[in-house]
Amino acid sequence: MELLSIGAFARATRLSHKALRVYDERGILTPARVDPDSGYRFYRRDQLERARLIAWLRRLGMPLARIAEVCAKDPRDAADDVAAYWRGVQADTAARGDIASLLIEHLSRRDESMTATSITVRTAALADQGKVRESNQDAAYAGEQLLAVADGFGANPGERLASAVALEALASLDVEPGSGELLDALESIVSEAEAAVQAHAGTDRTGSGTTLTALLWSGNRVGLVHIGDCRVYVLHGGHLAQLTHDHTVVQSLVDEGKISQDEVASHPERSTLFKALTGAQESSAQPELRILDCDPGDRFLLCSDGLHTVVEAQAIRECLASSPSPEQAVRALVDLANEAGGPDNVVCAVADIANP
Ligand code: MN
Repeated sequence: MELLSIGAFARATRLSHKALRVYDERGILTPARVDPDSGYRFYRRDQLERARLIAWLRRLGMPLARIAEVCAKDPRDAADDVAAYWRGVQADTAARGDIASLLIEHLSRRDESMTATSITVRTAALADQGKVRESNQDAAYAGEQLLAVADGFGANPGERLASAVALEALASLDVEPGSGELLDALESIVSEAEAAVQAHAGTDRTGSGTTLTALLWSGNRVGLVHIGDCRVYVLHGGHLAQLTHDHTVVQSLVDEGKISQDEVASHPERSTLFKALTGAQESSAQPELRILDCDPGDRFLLCSDGLHTVVEAQAIRECLASSPSPEQAVRALVDLANEAGGPDNVVCAVADIANP
């Protein structure tokens, strides 16, 4: 059989001599023959296909160890492997993108925060079992600087709830972070809550977990941490804006254009989460993190899906706009959810921003 010299093989595959030497050493592409005297490598013509696949996988950025695995598989399994690799790259890139936007927000507001006027925060929260469920796994924390809600799942009757466990772990973080410490404080909220949920789950409650959505004020800025399908809204100048994105399977289908917003309510996977704090030890949920300015007169709402799946945004806006105090607002919102059938637990937490 006619063998190709390394030069001819390199030209045909657009791989360098050096690359071919490395692939040989790593066992990914072994030459058909190595001349014992000169050390020259020779390749068979039918090795071109594998060499070209390796070249394309390198262009994709795949590490050599992973390329070795792909090359060892038949084409159908290799295709699945490439798809899985790419999903991982995309998830990783999205997580880095979030960190980049957070840093951009943080750095571009640094000068302003030095001279920022301070504000006061007044909070209230209310959790309710609703009309259908037999227990309440929704929980809230309403403190001086910190406001949080959590929608737990997977607890057996009588057990402590992952949602309550997560929020209890946050009580020690209810202090105003110093200038420049807000980002680290947001990170701590996630790590403390996740550690508490994992410790609580141990090895026999790994199916339990919770969502977590929290706001932490520092000066006139507020940091937002979000994992799951609770939501944050802000009423600013009479307009209601939703600040979070639901981490549900259906919402990602909407984002990808596969289903319409109108189909969400009737979708069987309406409440299936793709992000949560769970008891699984290896899990590490990438939270949504944001830093926002707030102004006196702003009213923030954190609520579980027990409210936003049954009460329209317009009704939420009217209720927030017409309730005199945070206490009255959370009571009125919980009543709205129950008047709409109360099919789920519901928790609402409200913060009013005012001049000192
Ligand atoms: Mn719920």
